Formats: sequence, C-alpha cells, structure tokens
Amino acid sequence: MLKIVFLGSGGAIPRPCRELPGVLIEVDRYRILIDPSEGTVRRLESIGVSPLKLTHIMVTHLHADHVNGLPGLLATMLMLNRVTPVTVIGPVGISDFTPTPINSSFRINIIELKPASEITLIESVDNLELRYVTTYHTVQNNSYSVTLRRPIGTFNPDKARELGIPVIYWRRIQMGETVVLPDGRVIEPTMVMSNVGNRSLTVTYTGDTSPGDGVVKLARGSSVLIHDSTYLPNDAKEAESRGHSTCLDAALDAKEAGVKLLILTHMSFRYGYEYYWDFLKCAGGIFPHTLTARDNMIIEI
Ligand SMILES: [Zn+2]
Ligand SMILES: [Zn+2]
Repeated sequence: MLKIVFLGSGGAIPRPCRELPGVLIEVDRYRILIDPSEGTVRRLESIGVSPLKLTHIMVTHLHADHVNGLPGLLATMLMLNRVTPVTVIGPVGISDFTPTPINSSFRINIIELKPASEITLIESVDNLELRYVTTYHTVQNNSYSVTLRRPIGTFNPDKARELGIPVIYWRRIQMGETVVLPDGRVIEPTMVMSNVGNRSLTVTYTGDTSPGDGVVKLARGSSVLIHDSTYLPNDAKEAESRGHSTCLDAALDAKEAGVKLLILTHMSFRYGYEYYWDFLKCAGGIFPHTLTARDNMIIEI
C-alpha cells in the first residue's frame, strides 16, 4: 500500500485555509517528504509523524515556499538525537540548505541533481524507485516520481522448479525482470507467471511547473499525478509568465499521460477556499478523475 498525506496545498503565502506545499508519501518502511516548506515540523506533529521517521526529503526547487522548512526540520532531528541517516534530494544548490551540524548524531546524504531533460533514476532500493526530470519554471524545478514495484502477475513455483530456476532468482522474475541463469538460459517472466501486467504504483509530483512533455513523460501511467494548479484559466497569462500551470493545463497533462487520478495542488493564495469547486469543475470537465487537494487530505492506493 502507498499512502499520500497533503501537509499543505497552497502556494507562495500560507493562509488559514491552505498551508504551504508539502506531501508525505508512506510506502513500506520509507517515509518520503516532498517540499519541506515553513512549518513542516509542526504539521508533521499534527498528523502524528515524527521527523525521526523520515527516510527521504525531496525538494523540487529552491523557492522559499518549498524549501524554507528544511533547516528547521534537520535541526529538529538533531534535537531529537536522530541516529539513522536521512537522504536529502534536490536541485543544484540544495547543499546550501543542509548544513551538517557540528557533533551531529546522524549523517545527511545529500543528492544534488543537475538539470535533466530525460527521465532519470535517482535511487532504486528494495521495491522503491525514485526518478526525476527537470521541468519548466523560473528556476531549476525537478518533478519527481515515487514508484513501488510489485509482482507483475501470479508466480508458478512448480513451473519454476520444472525449469530448474534457482530460488534466488524467483523474486527478481516476480518483479518483472528477465534473468540470465548461470547456464546461459534467458528466463522471461511470462515463462513462469500468468496474468502478467504492470502492477507497480507510481505517484508523480510536479512541483512548480508549466505544463509540458517532461511532466507527461514522467507521469505516464502513474496511479496519481499531483500537479501544479496555481491558477484558474482566467489567469493563464500569469501562469505562463511565472512558470506555473492552470487547472486546465493540469487536466490536459493528466489526460495525455493516462494517469488514474489527478490531484490539483499549489493553489495561489489569491483564491480562498470558496474557489475549491471552480478548480474541480474546470479540470474535471477535461479529466473526470480529479481531486482538489485540501490540507491533511489522505489518499491510499
Ligand atoms: Zn511554489
Ligand atoms: Zn516556485
């Protein structure tokens, strides 16, 4: 199972109805926080998640409303005597926001990502895969995807034994890998599995971005696409000049990428909560499987 919690769904300036951006993704033993904006520690506490539980912090870009909570979050981990390492992933310059405290009890693994126009794998560990692509904004913005790989079909152990496939290869085959045995035989998953299909779960998070190819490629086939939806279509010119998207742009990207669910987020502070349905109606007309994010909204897939 994969769980998504919205810590904040607004952009630029926090309002009582919408905090600044932040999404927590829980999958297996991993706790991945994307965009640690101001007030992140307090908001984590309000949903009962200790900063000690976080395994990854991913920053889309270095605008204040996406990264200003990072130093405080790391300082809180220090105060709580964290001992396990934490991985901080972000664009070029992210290391300036992650000073290693003197006498720190824990290690900070910093992964500073250069701009990438193609989908790029950041990390693959256990069944988890993290990818990014750099998309258009006023500064380097990395859109991220988090994938939970699951067995691609029903495994037939009798068939595997009959073919003499050593047990150490079974797991890899179940996850969809074609393996080469020591005797040179090539084993395709379909040789020992039935009902084969793509059962992985992917969440794609755009950060602040204009719509476009990069987002669509990264989000292709995702279970959930969390898309910049800063403006309503009336303000499309402003969206374009500031490297953001309207709810209509988000819906068109979602449709083209063939995602299962679109969630609009990063609504401008100019829109009060009363605009909730305007965003939903606008995007839903193009892509019916749409939700408008609310703070503390939880999605489980
Ligand atoms: Zn922003
Ligand atoms: Zn921004």
